[in-house]
Amino acid sequence: MKILYAASEAYPLIKTGGLGDVVYSLPRALNRLGDSVRLVLPGYGQVLDEAGPLDVVAEWDIPGAGTVHHVRILQTQLEGLGERLYLVEVPALFGRPGNPYVQENGIDWPDNAERFTVFSRAVAMLALQSPDPDWQAELVHCHDWQTGLVAAFLSQSPQSPATVFTIHNLSYDGYFSHQDFTRLHLPAAWWSPDYIEFYGGFSMLKAGLVFSDRVTTVSPSYAKEICTPEFGYRFDGLLMFMGDKLTGILNGIDLDTWNPASDRYLAAHYGAIRNRIKSKRINKTDLLQTVGLPDNDAPLLGFIGRLVHQKGIDLVATMLPELFEQSTAQVVILGSGDKLFESSLLALAKQHPERLHVFIGYSESLAHKIEAGCDLFLMPSRFEPCGLNQMYSLHYGTPPIVNDTGGLADTVVDTTPTTLKNRTANGFVFRETSADALLDCTLRALDCLAHPRAWHQVCRTGMQQALGWEASARHYQQLYQLEISP
Ligand code: ADP
Repeated sequence: MKILYAASEAYPLIKTGGLGDVVYSLPRALNRLGDSVRLVLPGYGQVLDEAGPLDVVAEWDIPGAGTVHHVRILQTQLEGLGERLYLVEVPALFGRPGNPYVQENGIDWPDNAERFTVFSRAVAMLALQSPDPDWQAELVHCHDWQTGLVAAFLSQSPQSPATVFTIHNLSYDGYFSHQDFTRLHLPAAWWSPDYIEFYGGFSMLKAGLVFSDRVTTVSPSYAKEICTPEFGYRFDGLLMFMGDKLTGILNGIDLDTWNPASDRYLAAHYGAIRNRIKSKRINKTDLLQTVGLPDNDAPLLGFIGRLVHQKGIDLVATMLPELFEQSTAQVVILGSGDKLFESSLLALAKQHPERLHVFIGYSESLAHKIEAGCDLFLMPSRFEPCGLNQMYSLHYGTPPIVNDTGGLADTVVDTTPTTLKNRTANGFVFRETSADALLDCTLRALDCLAHPRAWHQVCRTGMQQALGWEASARHYQQLYQLEISP
């Protein structure tokens, strides 16, 4: 199958979260299974700088808001990133430094509607007018709201390839005004609740849901949850009526990048059985030295992620003083996001300098060191479409403490006498979204840590779980086949 992947980020060129990991790993897994996947990304300045030699393979004039942009499609081949990478170069829209979606102050780029409409038009043109006569996309797979309009533009052509749209996080809906709709020359007929109009504005995510042949999301539980008002962000009615057009397919993890037996950021390597206890201790010392916490035998807990309400970081901040009272635990937090959460965590770290280290920013190496060096991993998300960090922590023998939601519920089995007996226990799950429930669950996990037999079994069960991409990639293949086969 020839498949064009369109997304707004991909590891290692540009990544802000799990989307970047998936867009890197899933095409690799599909290529390994014999498909031909090519990836198209916006030509952000930093991506063009890092992508090496680029060929111009197409040039088009594409309307933006009040101006026509001269768009160049650049092509390169980058080790690991699909079999070919296309970059949509529009310097006025993507040539700026910084985060792909937000300005330095955390507020969205004011021209996001224009940026991702022009990008989506270019992707649709690339799918219809392949610059490579030997390669014509049979299917276009788009990811999240930034690519929502691709299927809409493709629907205007009788030659459109099949389309799949994946929701990585429904709470980011690409919502813009009627004024943007008009300025971007979107077809008047689309201004309707049956198409992309949404509560007085329009939503690019809705365009992906409405116009694509298939919609997927990244775990079976989240696929069910988003059909309810609590998790549906006002799309629940639309999603509920989709029936089997909507599927939940669990993400995998990239075992080349996230593997404690070969991870280049670790002080010592290990497997589920081989060297685990000894090497984890070395990694713990390395992590504690890296962040400047005292090296002792106190339990060490980690958190990595965007510091936003979704991730339950406020629950962590609320429970920490009590946890420090009731245990000897130390905690390392890595993340960035909401300025209020950032400053309250930094203030807390000042009050507990021997117990808490907070690193505000993005650090690939520290993320790997935390996964390997901690005893337990905190992931109390209010909702979690799939979540990758809990899977990394399972694979690194660092049992996760999670809320019972979405992909967390699909990957983590709470430790109880029954699950210990049937050898499925791999972490700790709480069922009420509150700081008290998180604290109780964390104390329960610390108690288990003090019982070596049960503890080592829980660690080994997580490490031996099949978490790679192959099973998910096969599931996607089956879905693609349904759309491509006549
Ligand atoms: P989401 O996509 O909602 O942000 P996921 O758990 O699916 O959450 O994926 C997050 C990814 O981003 C993981 O690979 C995680 O390690 C990484 N990540 C998040 N914040 C940071 C950070 N501050 N430094 C390094 N990696 C981070």
